[in-house]
Parts: sequence; structure tokens; C-alpha cells
Amino acid sequence: MTEITPKPGIMDIALYVSGESRLAGHDDVLKLSSNENPLGCSKAAKAAFAAAAGGLNRYPSTDHADLRRAIGEVHDLDPARLICGVGSDEVLQFVTHAYAGQGDEVITTEHGFSMYPILARMVGAEPVTVPEAERRIDVDAILAAVTERTRIVFIANPANPTGTMLGEEELQRLVDGLPGHVMLVHDGAYVEFAGGFDGGVSLVDRHPNVIMTRTFSKIHGLGGLRIGWGYAQRSVIDVLNRIRQPFNLSSAQLAAAEAAIRDTAFTAHCAAENARWREWMRNGLVQMGIGCDESFANFLLARFASPEEADAADAALREDGILVRRVGGYGLPDALRITVGDETGCRRVLAFLSRFMHEKG
Ligand code: PMP
Repeated sequence: MTEITPKPGIMDIALYVSGESRLAGHDDVLKLSSNENPLGCSKAAKAAFAAAAGGLNRYPSTDHADLRRAIGEVHDLDPARLICGVGSDEVLQFVTHAYAGQGDEVITTEHGFSMYPILARMVGAEPVTVPEAERRIDVDAILAAVTERTRIVFIANPANPTGTMLGEEELQRLVDGLPGHVMLVHDGAYVEFAGGFDGGVSLVDRHPNVIMTRTFSKIHGLGGLRIGWGYAQRSVIDVLNRIRQPFNLSSAQLAAAEAAIRDTAFTAHCAAENARWREWMRNGLVQMGIGCDESFANFLLARFASPEEADAADAALREDGILVRRVGGYGLPDALRITVGDETGCRRVLAFLSRFMHEKG
């Protein structure tokens, strides 16, 4: 009997590894491994989520009009140019399905977010990984890698797990250098932590081959609900809507997200707290001899003297009930990615690392 087999290429897809949330022997883990919001989420979002329970017998909105209107009002964007998905992951998936396929190339960067090659392979395309320059996305390396088979370039800006960022001029140079048949995905999962950056809105307004994606998982503290959105020109949104399932978001997701985006006081508070403790923690790391680039996101990349030292620090942190992220799979074996926690969390992790660095001698 012949065996049932998946389509060619499926078994080449590496399974996504998410930040761990449990540690044996610790009931009260300090979880700094998934860039979540240590301050929780908006109270209004929780109330809206609970209220949605009253209408669970009804199908949710298919066009997400209320949520798109709310995003449009808060960010001053045309709701007709917005699309919402199950996390920004789903929006990235829409783009990949719509614009790349068998035999095409999808460009990602050396330390880029691990979902990008997974998405490329899902549609049978070839992920092409280009080098970065000292943990920063290298525009020239991307442009040099473009061929007539390239269909998508994925960049996260700020980038995960490095926390570094491309300025507006470099972004413009990237778009100007891309042929019109290549879609630039400007993944803005961490944009709200960068301060003063429009997240790629102006690029989208000027170029039909750019899409910006955003998420409710980070600044809005709704990682558990899975909601994200994209902003692109209408022609692109029209394409993506054709492959979106009609009821991709539940009524509870829609209600909570709408309340969350309108709670701008909470958003501003989270951004301010993150900036404060990110700076404090980075200074502390640098002072104790741990390498740490300036971060524009809600995490820091702590670089140790060697992969062995990073391993030892990780093991010691775990013993103390603190979970951070190993990033060897991202080509950074000597580093740990540490989410910026609340004040208590930041003080605890820094005090611990200070002891670790002291004791290792
Ligand atoms: N892009 C980047 C760069 C990320 O780090 C993440 C979350 N880890 C995502 C996209 C996906 O976020 P979500 O699907 O939760 O919106």
C-alpha cells in the first residue's frame, strides 16, 4: 500500500519554537521569554471581552468594520486600507499566500523573525537569507539578493530578536531599490515601543508594493487573544481579503481589540514604562560587562562573552525561576533575549545577572 505523504517541501519546514512558559519546580515563574506586556492589558479590553459573551450564538462581523474604524481613528488611517487577522502572523500569512508561490524567492535577514522562512516554505517558495551588519538589517545586502524570482522581502522594524531599527532614509532607499514586483513587508510588531516613528505608514502611502503589519500582542498586552492588522494600499487589501476566511476573528477578539486600541492612555503608559525600564536595564547590563545594543522594542539582546557563558547564564536564571529566550536558532548563540518586565521583574533579573557575572569571576 502506498503511504499518504504531504506536498513536497512541507517536511522541510522547521517547527516554530515559542518562548517557554513553564519551569519544573517553580510555581511562580518570571516569564521574560516572549516579549509580552508585563502590565497586562487594558481594563476596558477585558470588560469588552466579557461583554461579548452575551452574543456568542451570533456569527461575528465578517468585515471587521468597527475595529477597522477604531484603528483608523486612533492612527489616522483610512479604514478601507486596513485588514485584520488572527495575530499579525495571519496577516503575514495572507501576504505570503497571495504574493509568493512555488519556485519564487522570499528574502529574510540573518537574524530575522523565524516565522518568515516558515511562511515562505508553506507556499513552496524558497527563503533566501541575507547577512546583517552587526545585528542591523543591511539594505545593500537585501538589494543585492533580489532576483527576478524574488516576490517578498520581510523585515521587522524594530527587529526581533536584535531590537535594532532602520531609519526612515534607509527604509526609503530599500523601497526605491526594489523592483515593483517585490512586496516589502514592514513588520511593525514593536513599532509602538520605538517612539516617534510612523511604523511605515508614509511608505505605504507612497508605494503600492509595501504593507505594514501591526499587532495587539505586544503594546496592547493581548497576546492570548491573537489579533493583528495590516495597512496597505486598497489594491493590496482587496487581494488579501479574497484569501481571508470570512469569520477569521471572533466577536470576543473584535470587541476586546476595539476597546484596547481606543484605550490610548493605557498604551501611552505601557510605552513610557517600557522606555524607562529598558534604558535602566540596558545601562545595568553594559555596566556589568554584558554587550547590549540600543533597543527600540520591548526586549534587550544581552550578549555574553561566549555561547558557553550564555548557556551558563540561562541555566542559572532558570534555576532561579526566570525564563528568558535563547536565540541560538537566530544565529546568536552567545546571546539571551530578555523581555523588559515591570519594575520588580527588571530589578530581579538585573540583580541576578549582576551576581552571576560577579561569581563567574
Ligand atoms: N512579527 C514579529 C517580529 C514578532 O516578534 C511577532 C511575535 N513574536 C510577530 C510578528 C507575531 O505576532 P502576533 O502574531 O502575535 O501578532
